[in-house]
Amino acid sequence: MMKYKKCQSCGMPFSNDGSEETKNQVYCGHCYQNGVFTLPSITANEMKQLMKNKIVEFGFPRLIAALYTRNIHKLERWKKT
Ligand SMILES: [Zn+2]
Repeated sequence: MMKYKKCQSCGMPFSNDGSEETKNQVYCGHCYQNGVFTLPSITANEMKQLMKNKIVEFGFPRLIAALYTRNIHKLERWKKT
């Protein structure tokens, strides 16, 4: 199984505590809970916008937010199979 360093839905890095749970994680608790996506019909672009807003809310500049979210569409969740 592939190991991911960040959520394959929103791009948030996982906390690096080395626990078994963290090692096998694909999605973070904000995106995925109890076996289902919390926002099942969201698109990659909507996720980008959502995360951008969140990062700006945390007090980071818009430029940082844009850089951070620019590759969200390349994550596993958004890959067309
Ligand atoms: Zn996530």
